[in-house]
Amino acid sequence: MSGNKFKQTNMKCTTFKYIGENGEKIEKPKKQFNSEEEAFKQACYYNAYGNTIHKLSAYKCWSCGKWHIGRTPHVLTQEDREKYKQRLAELSKNR
Ligand SMILES: [Zn+2]
Repeated sequence: MSGNKFKQTNMKCTTFKYIGENGEKIEKPKKQFNSEEEAFKQACYYNAYGNTIHKLSAYKCWSCGKWHIGRTPHVLTQEDREKYKQRLAELSKNR
């Protein structure tokens, strides 16, 4: 089988929340966005101002067809944060 071409690690509608009392993984539903723009803007905001260590990016979900925000392995640098702040400023200008 070679149907895993588009497989991504966090392509699902839930996100890990915490480990339960019995060691089970507790998940919560991910926020859904109706468009790439919305999801991207939110991801930029988290990347610029959030206390996240890893960069977040918007992706289209194959199970619900909406957009979600997922973590990438890329670690955010101060430079990245500045870049996202600028990107956000540009995005809000175009509204
Ligand atoms: Zn989904």
